Amino acid sequence: MAEGVLFDRLCLLGTGLIGSSIARVARARGDLARTVVAHAKTPATLDRVRELGIADVVEADPAAAVRGADCVVFCIPVGAYAEVGAQVAPHLAPGAIVTDVGSTKASVVRDLAPLMPAGVHLVPAHPMAGTEYSGPDAGFAELFQGRYCIVTPLPGSDPAAVEAVAELWRRCGSMIETLDPATHDKIVAIVSHLPHLLAFTICSTADDLAEETKEAVLKFAATGFRDFTRIAASDPTMWRDVFLNNREALLEMLARFTEDAQALGRAVRWGQAEYIEDRIRRGRKIRRGLIERKQA
Ligand code: NAP
Repeated sequence: MAEGVLFDRLCLLGTGLIGSSIARVARARGDLARTVVAHAKTPATLDRVRELGIADVVEADPAAAVRGADCVVFCIPVGAYAEVGAQVAPHLAPGAIVTDVGSTKASVVRDLAPLMPAGVHLVPAHPMAGTEYSGPDAGFAELFQGRYCIVTPLPGSDPAAVEAVAELWRRCGSMIETLDPATHDKIVAIVSHLPHLLAFTICSTADDLAEETKEAVLKFAATGFRDFTRIAASDPTMWRDVFLNNREALLEMLARFTEDAQALGRAVRWGQAEYIEDRIRRGRKIRRGLIERKQA
C-alpha cells in the first residue's frame, strides 16, 4: 500500500501535541485522509483547533466525531481510554480501524479490546516521538520524521488493518517496528518512563531544599540539572496516566535502577575508581550508539 489517499475520514480523538501533529501532517501531505475530524475535551482546545485550521471538522461530541470514520486514532491520555472508548464504541463504523498513540500498550489492549464491536479492527501503536510541550499549539508536522513507531497488533489482527496503520506512520515519516504489548511496555519503561520518574524526583528534591539553596539551584542550572528540568516540564495528566498504566514494568525498572544506583554509590563511598569509570564508560557507549543510529 503506497499510493492514493489512505483514509476517507480520519478521526483524531484528542488534538494536543500528538493529535495536532498528525493533523498537520495530513494538511501538509494531503494523502492521509480526504477529511480530518478533530475532537478534544474542552471548548478552549476545540476553538483553538478551529483557529489553527488544522482539521476539516472540529467536533465536540466524541460519538459524532467517530461516526463514518474509517480510521479513529486515540490521541488522549491513556487513563481516559476506557471512558472515551465506551462513549464512541457503539458509533464506530463497520470495518473501521481503531488505533492510538498512547505511551503504554498492555493497558490500551485491556481498556479498548473488550469494547470493540465485531468487524472493527483494533491496532494499537506508539510513535516514539514527543516533546515536553502539550496542547494544539505544540504540534508540528515534522515531529515523527525519522522516529520509530511501534505497532503492537493483537493476535489475529487483520493484516490489512495493521498495514494501513503502518502506512499512516510511514507517511508521517516514521520507521515501523512491531512488538507485543508486554515487550513494548518493558522497553519504554526503561527508555522513557523511568527517565521521567527520575526527572520529576530530582526536581521535587531540589524544590524541597531551603529557599536560598533553591535560588542557587536555578542560578547554576546550566549543568546536568537543566536537562532534567526539561523532561520534568512534561504534562502532569499524561505522565500520571503513563505511570499508573505501566505500573509493573516501571516498578521493575525502578527496582533494578535503585540496585545499580546503590552499587555506584557504594563504589563512590569506598573509592572504587575502576567501577566508577566503568559505569561512566557504559554511559558514553550508549550515547555513541544513539548518535550512530541517528536517534540522539
Ligand atoms: P496533550 O498535548 O496534553 O493533548 C491531549 C489531548 O487529549 C487534548 O486535546 C485533550 O483535550 C484531549 N483529552 C484529554 N482527555 C480527554 C477526554 N477525556 N476526552 C476527549 N479528549 C481528551 O497530550 P499529548 O502529548 O498529545 O499525548 C496524547 C497521547 O500521546 C497520550 O496517550 C500520550 O501517552 C501519548 N504520547 C505522548 C508523547 C509526548 O511526548 N507527549 C509521545 C508519544 C505518545 P483538551 O485540551 O480539551 O483537554
